[in-house]
Amino acid sequence: MPPIPGSGLAKGLAVTLRTMTKKTVTAQYPDVQPELPPRTRGVIGLFEENCTVCMLCARECPDWCIYIDSHKETVPAAVEGGRERSRNVLDRFAIDFSLCMYCGICIEVCPFDALFWSPEFEYAETDIHELTHERDKLREWMWTVPEPPALDPGAEEPKEIAAARKAAEKLAAAQEQAAAQAPAAPEQPARQEDEGPTE
Ligand code: SF4
Ligand code: SF4
Repeated sequence: MPPIPGSGLAKGLAVTLRTMTKKTVTAQYPDVQPELPPRTRGVIGLFEENCTVCMLCARECPDWCIYIDSHKETVPAAVEGGRERSRNVLDRFAIDFSLCMYCGICIEVCPFDALFWSPEFEYAETDIHELTHERDKLREWMWTVPEPPALDPGAEEPKEIAAARKAAEKLAAAQEQAAAQAPAAPEQPARQEDEGPTE
């Protein structure tokens, strides 16, 4: 059956009318910033103090876009007669975000919680080399990492918090015991003027 003349126009007008009555979903970025969920994968932040230069993230990265350089330093023995120890010191930590595919493997495998997702995404560059973020820039991203969500009310206490609480309780008990065992301070002799005139 041949189409009725003008039916296409009517259909188009019907779609227009239907859309006009719906709430708009257009985001007016960049005038209005989007409300991103806290687990958005925008950029990776480095918490350098936690990094032990174990290289696990660089080895597991499927894109080979994490660059780490380090050197070894000798730490003197903690006690007399003890053994000297050596530790890795970080010289360079960089991520090339022009290669990164935001898989999150580096963050998952880091055994020391040194890498975090930040929802920040406004770091486009006109020069591709600028997309390699060095350690200072990666550290700056840490300020934009959102707080972790609260634990479920019935969740088990995290082991780090439990250990810190037990240590604090032990210390408080030891201080209380020491205070109870301390000898009482001798009484001070009364001062002369308090005794009144001697004549
Ligand atoms: S998110 Fe994936 S691709 Fe990007 S640096 Fe980490 S491991 Fe590599
Ligand atoms: S896995 Fe974690 S601790 Fe190891 S080098 Fe990477 S960021 Fe540092």
